[in-house]
Amino acid sequence: MSADLYLSILKNKGYKLTPKRKAVIELFLQENRILAPRDVYRQLEKQIHPLGFPTVYRILEEFSLAGILIPVLSDERLLSYALCRRPQEHHHHFICHSCQRVEDVDYCGIAGAQETIEKKLGCRIDTHLFQLEGICSDCLKNKR
Ligand SMILES: [Zn+2]
Ligand SMILES: [Zn+2]
Ligand SMILES: [Zn+2]
Repeated sequence: MSADLYLSILKNKGYKLTPKRKAVIELFLQENRILAPRDVYRQLEKQIHPLGFPTVYRILEEFSLAGILIPVLSDERLLSYALCRRPQEHHHHFICHSCQRVEDVDYCGIAGAQETIEKKLGCRIDTHLFQLEGICSDCLKNKR
């Protein structure tokens, strides 16, 4: 997994490939886990000066809108982020609240219902969020 895929997606969406944006992608690739904004800030401030906390927040939000990062609410209802492994394919995610693992889910619960809902509301649906959360199979086994 390299940063190039993510950087090309950002470029296509009109984002400038700044050293800060690149560093955020590299960090998520390297850490391979869910990161809170403060984790990202602490790692990045070692290599980038000056760096403001609002900048980190802004980049994380941008990447989430671009479909590169998956927003995950922690138990304390704080927003953290995980890197999406296949940002170009439509899929969803399962998040384990015990080990923080993110698994891809190749099932779209809403696809079939979309047309029905559009007719009912008289609207056009462009996008949707569908996130599954719980305890993964490994964690369930360990609890027994
Ligand atoms: Zn994904
Ligand atoms: Zn787990
Ligand atoms: Zn879907």
